[in-house]
Amino acid sequence: MIESQARISSAREVADELRRRSCFVMVSHVKPDGDTLGAGFALGLALKRLGKRVLYFAEDAIPRNLRFLPEAQYASRQLPSDLPADTLFVFCDMSDWRRAGDGLPALTRENMLDIDHHLGNALFGKFNFVLETECSTGSVVMHLLRELGVPLDASIATCILTTIMTDTGGFMHSNTTADALDLSAQLIRLGADKEKITEEVFLRKRVAATKLLGRIIDEMTLKHGGSYCYSYVDDAMLAQTGADGEDTEDFVNVLLGQEGVNVAALFKAIDGELRVSLRSNGGVNVQAAAARLGGGGHFRASGLTFKGTLPNAFESVEQALIAEGL
Ligand code: 5GP
Ligand code: MN
Repeated sequence: MIESQARISSAREVADELRRRSCFVMVSHVKPDGDTLGAGFALGLALKRLGKRVLYFAEDAIPRNLRFLPEAQYASRQLPSDLPADTLFVFCDMSDWRRAGDGLPALTRENMLDIDHHLGNALFGKFNFVLETECSTGSVVMHLLRELGVPLDASIATCILTTIMTDTGGFMHSNTTADALDLSAQLIRLGADKEKITEEVFLRKRVAATKLLGRIIDEMTLKHGGSYCYSYVDDAMLAQTGADGEDTEDFVNVLLGQEGVNVAALFKAIDGELRVSLRSNGGVNVQAAAARLGGGGHFRASGLTFKGTLPNAFESVEQALIAEGL
């Protein structure tokens, strides 16, 4: 019997565990992005090639711009009732298993594998394959694919390249290391469809989304000598423009991109929930600021769910940012 380990596991240990199990549920986080999905689909495809049974759990619907991903059509909130006892639930791209939502059956550590690249991962799995220096969870999964020795095809390569392009903001963020670019080149040689990813994830915008961006820019506030920029979106703005929550994903980066801005926040009061996205250009640790309010993420990109009103959220987030050096 192998002990559970609240420590970082090796690729070998994890690969051995994957070979031992017969059935897998690849678990993505709520409001799934290209990293949580691409990482899970890539590993799921590889495990299928090894003859394993693979299911995909996603609490929320797959966003329109990620439905092109191989395997996306199999993601579901429902799991079959005949899962064998040795089923391994593989959590991709979340520092805490609760980010998977409420729809999973009750699990013990023994049936959880944690694959991630976030700072401050809770190491909640039987095995925890967490590499904080990797640009995406997909590039963490690559280490496992190599260890498993599964042949990489164009579908797997497209999934992994999607994780890298999503989490580097199309090769723009500071995590676009030489290693990230080397791996991307390898994936393109394997047939990863970079054009498709560029078109689906980055270029094509709905007119309603662009109108919503205009409203968010109208509501922009600059504080702290212009170094902190925040804005918000609420249900009324969505109704005015015809946009929906999915359309808001990138907009916090527009706020960060304004001249003189070092920290940006976008508050999203949608469907009775208040989500906050934080971004930094490197001076302020927004992961630490988010963690003060129960959220998390990375040094330069983090998020949280706020319990309270929009004005309270403006105040609390600003105080958390000030405490981190804003
Ligand atoms: P976004 O602003 O795109 O929703 O999230 C930015 C980053 O912060 C992502 O890496 C995401 O995983 C992380 N993040 C967002 N919301 C939460 C949260 O509520 N809890 C934790 N731990 N991380 C979050
Ligand atoms: Mn990620």
